[in-house]
Amino acid sequence: MSQDSSSHPDSASHPGPSHVSRMGFPRDSVTQPSSPPVYLTAAFDVPSIDVLYGMAAGTHHGHIYTRDSNPTHTALADSIAVLEGAEAGAVFSSGMGALGSILLTLLSQGDHLIVANALYGRSLQLVERLRLQLGLTVTVADVSNPATFGAAVTSRTRLALVETVSNPLLEVADIQALAASLGSIPLVVDATFSTPELIRPLSLGASIVFHSASKYLNGHGDLMLGVAAGSTILMKRLTETASLFGQNANPFESWLCQRGLRTLPLRMKQTCDSTRKIADFLASHPAVRRVHYPLLESHKSFHLASKLYPHGTGGIVSFELNGGGEASVNQFIQHSTTIPFSPTLADARTTISWPAGTSHKFMSAERRAEMGITTELIRLSVGLEPPELLIAELTQVLDRISPKKQM
Ligand SMILES: *Cc1c(COP(=O)(O)O)cnc(C)c1O
Repeated sequence: MSQDSSSHPDSASHPGPSHVSRMGFPRDSVTQPSSPPVYLTAAFDVPSIDVLYGMAAGTHHGHIYTRDSNPTHTALADSIAVLEGAEAGAVFSSGMGALGSILLTLLSQGDHLIVANALYGRSLQLVERLRLQLGLTVTVADVSNPATFGAAVTSRTRLALVETVSNPLLEVADIQALAASLGSIPLVVDATFSTPELIRPLSLGASIVFHSASKYLNGHGDLMLGVAAGSTILMKRLTETASLFGQNANPFESWLCQRGLRTLPLRMKQTCDSTRKIADFLASHPAVRRVHYPLLESHKSFHLASKLYPHGTGGIVSFELNGGGEASVNQFIQHSTTIPFSPTLADARTTISWPAGTSHKFMSAERRAEMGITTELIRLSVGLEPPELLIAELTQVLDRISPKKQM
């Protein structure tokens, strides 16, 4: 965590929380409100043709129309750039808006891309849609074997797409090894699960990092937003695509996310600490067959995760009930009085999701089984409640669920 600068993997350049509190004020702010302003406007009055030309030429800073740019978006984009250690940031309608802009910017008809074997369900669907519409070729590569990424590169390869910590089984990507294997091919990293508090992919060789800011960056489950960071030229190209396809964000949501960023260090510390405790608890309960959490020795990413994420991999832990199929999952949901079944993650409150019936529902049962996503898999997004209360609730629920395994 950045609070503990001595042990952050990148402590020398990590901005830390004091920086966060000064972020978000537009570049042209002359007065100093204690909270940054929000510009709820569709357009901006332009004082002269000279100014209009100056803005087009980049000699004059300013805004014309909110679909193209808005000071509240610029302020958030700048904050993301600081957090990610990037030249520039960009803001989109949602995480999917960010990924859509990235793919539509970097890929043309007939191109090739490489994707990780485990990705957010909708990201897989978007890649599949573009494959059909643009005649792309797609190689699915194994994140746990970075050399397979480099080996898949062809003269038509335009990018590779991975997640820092995958959904929902939490496989950890070795960003540095993947970037090295890919050489000059841009590595695009979805860092939604980890946030810049835990890892900064650009410093490890990625070309673009993006987030569903609907999740931890905002952290309160009350908006849809996406952000990206990388070189100035790439962010400019992404923003142009977003404007053409209408993948632009809403200024009020950028403002809310800016507010969320102020508590990001604290929220990530709390959720990482609680999640470790809950993972240990789940592993000890007889109604649970298996726990997927990278800092448990039983997880396939344990060694890499211990190196890259010594303080935790965020607030997600997945676990399989000990049999009983859909009926057991239903019991879990119905017995739970304080933890709602809500197919999202990274809210301030703890929520559960059921990947087989929500995020990965569009896949065949065989493909899910191949990926390790069983019917009895439940994904827990640990919020900011005291961990003792969460463990008491989980105990109450799991004690009432059968079948139990012999401990
Ligand atoms: C939620 C999510 C997305 C999509 O973001 P939206 O803001 O819902 O469009 C992409 N990647 C991951 C890992 C996510 O969890």
